[in-house]
Amino acid sequence: DAPSSSTKPVAHNAPLPPSNAKPSTSSRIAPHSHIKGLGLNDIGLVPENTSATLAAGPSGFVGQKTAREACGVIVDLVKSRKFSGRALLLVGGPGTGKTALALALSHDLGTKVPFCPMVGSEVYSAEVKKTEVLAEAFRRAIGLRIKETKEVYEGEVTELTPTETENPLSGYGKTIARVVVGLKTVKGTKQLRLDPSIYESMLKEKVVVGDVIYIEANTGAVKRVGRSDAYAAAFDLESETYVPLPKGDVHKKKSLVQDITLGDLDAANARPQGGSDIMSVMGGLMTKGKTEVTEKLRREVNKVVQGYVDQGVAEVVPGVVFIDEVHMLDIECFTYLNKLLESPMAPTVVLATNRGTSIVKGTTDIVAPHGIPMDLMDRCMIVRTTPYLPDEIAAVVSLRAQVEGLKLGEGVVDRLSKVGTDSSLRYALQLLTPASILAKLAGREEVHLEDISEMGELFLDAKRSAAEIGRMGL
Ligand code: ATP
Repeated sequence: DAPSSSTKPVAHNAPLPPSNAKPSTSSRIAPHSHIKGLGLNDIGLVPENTSATLAAGPSGFVGQKTAREACGVIVDLVKSRKFSGRALLLVGGPGTGKTALALALSHDLGTKVPFCPMVGSEVYSAEVKKTEVLAEAFRRAIGLRIKETKEVYEGEVTELTPTETENPLSGYGKTIARVVVGLKTVKGTKQLRLDPSIYESMLKEKVVVGDVIYIEANTGAVKRVGRSDAYAAAFDLESETYVPLPKGDVHKKKSLVQDITLGDLDAANARPQGGSDIMSVMGGLMTKGKTEVTEKLRREVNKVVQGYVDQGVAEVVPGVVFIDEVHMLDIECFTYLNKLLESPMAPTVVLATNRGTSIVKGTTDIVAPHGIPMDLMDRCMIVRTTPYLPDEIAAVVSLRAQVEGLKLGEGVVDRLSKVGTDSSLRYALQLLTPASILAKLAGREEVHLEDISEMGELFLDAKRSAAEIGRMGL
């Protein structure tokens, strides 16, 4: 009953390296960590008691009733596959929650739906073609959920006996011929005679007697899940927590789910690295040695993905691509965007702008609403975000303080709400964290009004900084 000895060990279950996620993406989402969804009720409305006022409710969204309800309709359209070839255009002033709305929309589309935000001006990079930047963002917004059911041998190692043999080929030293592993479970101990390659995996995992391990039946991958004193619990890869070890045989089935994006797969295949985590394994599917993500490579990746989908191993999870300041794109990008929108594997596209009628970038004479050419405008459903009322700003400030674990002293919320009304919500939120550092330096747990005032003097808002430059006659 030893696992197949012919296959090389590959650990499909290693967690994904975080390097696959673009760092800029996560840092852009962090300010929205309080946003958990659109917060609509069963009939798609913002519940009355949380409407434009204080309590944000569990969704973390304050106000913007019309915009949120409109986004709810988009969620329904996307879910019923009636939104393809179209885009949502959010129009509103800076800091009025356009990014937050797009993120909430992706939350409402389902769990672990990828959200890929970018800013229009990002396409102007010296190294990468403009259209490539757009294509990559689209690929990162398409998720792939890989489901695997694995048969594993799991238990506490009671014996680990490698049998050495002369290696006739290498001519020197000894090689491992096989390894005998005793695995103890609730029902008793079982001896497995394993392939030498599995012994290598064990050495890599630093398995010693007393460890609780599991060995995948068909790949021979070995995973150390804890020490025997932790035997009462085993590490569950899916929930990433220790769970009670089920009583039973050494042999059992484990169900694993991995979430990656097509963008991750493209990158892994462009720069195959070798290794035993899933990205390296999937990265080795194509011809080796490519360094660039090309249209051809994407097509190859698509083909492999389609194969997985057909086998029922993987499921495609279309996410949301969000392009802020879309007026920064030029005519070439807009043409390409139209093409991307038509592709059968397109994510939901959300665009945002605060620009009025202007010249389409890259042209000298095409004037269009928001600087967006008419052919793209025709595909857009437009939703407006409105400026916040002082009460709403106060609610967002309180929410952020809660998320960041900050205590606010008397009058602070009111002051920040006024600051937010006079300049912008984002500026008010920006003062919060440095003010809390100031409070800590003063040995206080609580942020006081004086901290806010001091920060307000140190850091200018847009209006004041522009006025300052004006005064200097620059
Ligand atoms: P810009 O156009 O300048 O990019 P924006 O319209 O995308 O701005 P956001 O970045 O979404 O604005 O909002 C600024 C900050 O305020 C974020 O931290 C966001 O999560 C928070 N925020 C905005 N609106 C709301 C809201 N209605 N409820 C809760 N938080 C909000």
